[in-house]
Amino acid sequence: EAAESNELRSPIFVVLGHVDAGKTKTLDKIRQSNVAAGEHGRITQQIGATYIPRDALEQKIAAVARGSDFKLRLPGLLMIDTPGHESFSNLRSRGSDLCNIAILVVNMTSGFEPQTFESIRMLKERRIPFVVAMNKIDRLYDWKTTPDAGFAATFAKQTKNVRQEFDGHLKRVILQLSEEGFNASLFNENPDERKYISVVPISAMTGEGIPDLLLLLSRLSQQMMAEKLTFQENIEATILEVKMLEGQGTTIDVILSNGTLREGDRIVVCGLNGPIVTSIRSLLTPEPLKEMRVKTPFIHHSEVKGAMGVKIAAQDLEGAVAGGRVLVINERMSEEQAKREVMADVSHLLELISSTGRGVHVQASTLGSLEALLEFLRQMKIPVGSVAIGTIFKKDVIRASIMLEHQKEYATMLCFDVKIDREAEALTKELGVRVFSANVIYHLFDAFTAYMKELES
Ligand code: GDP
Ligand code: MG
Repeated sequence: EAAESNELRSPIFVVLGHVDAGKTKTLDKIRQSNVAAGEHGRITQQIGATYIPRDALEQKIAAVARGSDFKLRLPGLLMIDTPGHESFSNLRSRGSDLCNIAILVVNMTSGFEPQTFESIRMLKERRIPFVVAMNKIDRLYDWKTTPDAGFAATFAKQTKNVRQEFDGHLKRVILQLSEEGFNASLFNENPDERKYISVVPISAMTGEGIPDLLLLLSRLSQQMMAEKLTFQENIEATILEVKMLEGQGTTIDVILSNGTLREGDRIVVCGLNGPIVTSIRSLLTPEPLKEMRVKTPFIHHSEVKGAMGVKIAAQDLEGAVAGGRVLVINERMSEEQAKREVMADVSHLLELISSTGRGVHVQASTLGSLEALLEFLRQMKIPVGSVAIGTIFKKDVIRASIMLEHQKEYATMLCFDVKIDREAEALTKELGVRVFSANVIYHLFDAFTAYMKELES
């Protein structure tokens, strides 16, 4: 009852799984234009995310919600498109709810694969509830497709052989989950959703089972998370990326998990060299359902309410760091308090840098990955002289090259998931700065460990 009167915010979902399991295809299917929805019911492409408003959601679950007593109370859903689980797991910003429920996509015919296990490990570590989307059911031999149907309806039309084959695949997925320590069940036979992971069979190709998946996610969000999803005025926002935008200068792409951002708001943003205080000049999102890759004009908003993905244009954002927080200065949050809070994630990292400035240079895509690298180097007892976040420029190479005069082996850059500017790359060769670069953190550790061993011998 009490919860009824509270305004819920949109939950945030993240799609995870092995490459080729069908993550992108699943999102594409969900995004597919909804007939007859008016402008306000339109699914929108946002910064690093897709927003499915209530009207569209209602339509998409209708096939299975009809006749049930389910009542949709969410304003919508925000689905984060992760290019890889690495980049998501590195966004472990403090205080922000970047994911309420995860969707682990598994290719039914291949079962669990390396990144499936990695995703599960991450979900366990961070105690994120999840459901399994067992994808590609249409691949079963002799499967009879009913596009966009609920699972029960389409399954009822399959032959005995198809059902038997399906059962075999389902059993394997359930067994593999149990080997990872999870009880699991087909979603519509789940005896206790708090104890059993639901497995939803879907086809991202034909849309079968997608209504069940969306209904389950909506229902779980409402039931299990009513408290967490109550809309609050407190700002919870995390920087996904720091980017140049023609005509706007440096901008930050953020996921606003909670609260409202308005044009003109005074904000405090986390930077490695200290907090950045600035005012929001523009709040931008891409045009509805256009790919970010296509050069498209952005839409301006006077305010945005969480959960949303949004691009913020403002002065002085050059030093902002991905993975850091954004806070708004208002009657509940003084400038001093905001500065302290945004820097809380960074201060313990900066303590890991040697006070003499002697050591290797570390550069990463986000605060979370920087933290992982610094922890690794601490364990290896390798001193760190300097750190940076984002693309490698000449100044970073010059910073690393200082060690050539002191301890040559430390004139080394450990770079994770970052681009290198062409001039900077040329400079590394010219100066003789060694670069270790990788997009998988363990590969970087291995390469660097091998190098240190080689030096010792
Ligand atoms: P991702 O790497 O997890 O994002 O995988 P994609 O969404 O890119 O899908 C990988 C490949 O599998 C693509 O060729 C898709 O067309 C195909 N695919 C994805 N889902 C399905 C499905 O449900 N049925 C069939 N038959 N093919 C699928
Ligand atoms: Mg993909």
